[in-house]
Amino acid sequence: MQWLQKMLFYMNGRYGYDEFSKFLIILGLIFGIISNFAGGLWVSAIGIAIIAFGVLRIVSKEKNNRYKELTKYLAIKHKIQHVYRKYNNRWVQRKAYKFVKCPNCKQKLRIPRGKKKLKVTCPSCKQSFIRKS
Ligand SMILES: [Zn+2]
Repeated sequence: MQWLQKMLFYMNGRYGYDEFSKFLIILGLIFGIISNFAGGLWVSAIGIAIIAFGVLRIVSKEKNNRYKELTKYLAIKHKIQHVYRKYNNRWVQRKAYKFVKCPNCKQKLRIPRGKKKLKVTCPSCKQSFIRKS
């Protein structure tokens, strides 16, 4: 248990492990794997640099700066997840619905497929227009 006590003593006052460090370490490992197949030395150097950054964040004493990085990372991650869910939903519903834009206010609308010409009334600006579905 000696090493654990040393480890805990060393980590005292340091930032510690978070989601962004986990992401960096996994990304670095992916770079390492890719470097085996393509790219070679440069790709593996980038991978090592990314892992080093992730590890340095864990043992850093500047908690405020690390926390700011985590906040930025989470904001970007949530944006990407939002876009992914949007397009994934459209992909899942592509056989039953068509996605069109209102010509007046550019609001995106979902109309059922297979109804030929459809009179669509925009729920946001109440304007009607004809669309093939
Ligand atoms: Zn509209």
